[in-house]
Amino acid sequence: MNTKTTSVDCPNCKKAVAWTDENKSRPFCSKRCKLIDFGGWASEHNSIPGESVYPSIEDEYDQ
Ligand SMILES: [Zn+2]
Repeated sequence: MNTKTTSVDCPNCKKAVAWTDENKSRPFCSKRCKLIDFGGWASEHNSIPGESVYPSIEDEYDQ
């Protein structure tokens, strides 16, 4: 019976994952997929140069 178990697709590999308290990595199928996805997000986030964004906005307002 699957009526009590919600399943989701792993954001990383699209594998069906049971949404249970036992699955600490949900919605990912595994800790590995969680780390891969988070690592990708983190590196993408860090690649955005915040300090160079603000000066360009101030320049547009200043001129
Ligand atoms: Zn996965």
